[in-house]
Amino acid sequence: MTQYKIPMSSPDLTDADRQAVIEVINTPNLSMGKWTPAFEKTFCDLTGAKHAIAVNSGTAGLHLCVRAAGIGAGDLVITTPFSFVASSNVMLFENAIPVFVDIDPRTGNINPDLVADAARNIQKYLPRALRNTDYVIRKNLKALLPVDIFGQPADMDAINAVAKEHGLKVIEDSCEALGATYKGKHAGTLGDFGVFAFYPNKQITTGEGGVIITNDDKAAHFMRAMRNQGRAPGDTWLQHTHLGYNYRIDEMSAAMGTTQMSRLGEIMAKREQVAAWYESRLSEIAGIEIPFIESFTTKSSWFVYVIRFDKKINRDEIAKRLDARGIPVRPYFLPIHLQPYMAEKFGYKEGDFPVTEDLGKRGLAIPFSGVMTEEQVDFVCNIIRDEAQNGNW
Ligand SMILES: *Cc1c(COP(=O)(O)O)cnc(C)c1O
Repeated sequence: MTQYKIPMSSPDLTDADRQAVIEVINTPNLSMGKWTPAFEKTFCDLTGAKHAIAVNSGTAGLHLCVRAAGIGAGDLVITTPFSFVASSNVMLFENAIPVFVDIDPRTGNINPDLVADAARNIQKYLPRALRNTDYVIRKNLKALLPVDIFGQPADMDAINAVAKEHGLKVIEDSCEALGATYKGKHAGTLGDFGVFAFYPNKQITTGEGGVIITNDDKAAHFMRAMRNQGRAPGDTWLQHTHLGYNYRIDEMSAAMGTTQMSRLGEIMAKREQVAAWYESRLSEIAGIEIPFIESFTTKSSWFVYVIRFDKKINRDEIAKRLDARGIPVRPYFLPIHLQPYMAEKFGYKEGDFPVTEDLGKRGLAIPFSGVMTEEQVDFVCNIIRDEAQNGNW
């Protein structure tokens, strides 16, 4: 295994975060104490959302949104194949069907024109294995699930217009975009439901964790019950109105998240600085494209730094060379429709979503975090430049 000279990502933690965790573990209240609501409140304060529901992962949050949106077996949800797998898996958990449409080649976000077309002509967009069957579909289209890729919101006005026209719910996967804004409005507030995630490579971390935000009272009550073993308000500990899950966040995580949230502005600014260092160095290197920011992205919240190589450059070859020189890198993303279980279940094939596949082949995430120093950025960029000049790729 390569001995890396620099980590792929690092959490941005301070003594205040560590102290918050220590404070919790010196009490008997390790779950369902005061920190969970305190953590939730920071999201209402930040985004203006009426409800925030903390859970133990972003995936759990998305799953609860699918349940609250009434998406069930055989229902269809239009979404993107260029994402982390969780955004599609949550439909499969309910035997619902993710219907993929391709993406905008500049940002990697779902293409709203294709969303509109798919909502009108859903038959044409069904997974291969369901086309030409007698599958009854029109009435089953329930929701849209856009993803704010790499910290930049999807074109939510256009997506919401489609939702309105067809009476669909919108679940905004903002797991990569905490703190970002779209036309001045917070990521996560743009649909019916928004979800954030706090795995250690995200903007803030709780180890594992997630938060759902919504203005829908009924859905919020349902999701609070469902995260807590189906206990509705008024149920005792051993009474369960619904068949629920244990999706509760623990108090150590919630305490750490609360102190992390108090530094969100600073954490985002540090990440933005690192992105700017990368941009100034990498934009001079031929054959490399740096991330594109939309005009409607009024604030980007940097999640990962993904560069793209020209088609003639062998991305996998340079990835190997960088790895061998101590720089961890990751291809971003392997398209969801080509993941083995998806391809097998739905009959997807290479060529089904060409833009997604093209970005998937050319994109490479390089080391990124808010605690990276300018020297570390130089180290990474010098090696990339060196490889480029050697014509080694
Ligand atoms: C991180 C992430 C999630 C949720 O991840 P968890 O590991 O379950 O917290 C969901 N969708 C996207 C696009 C993500 O990047």
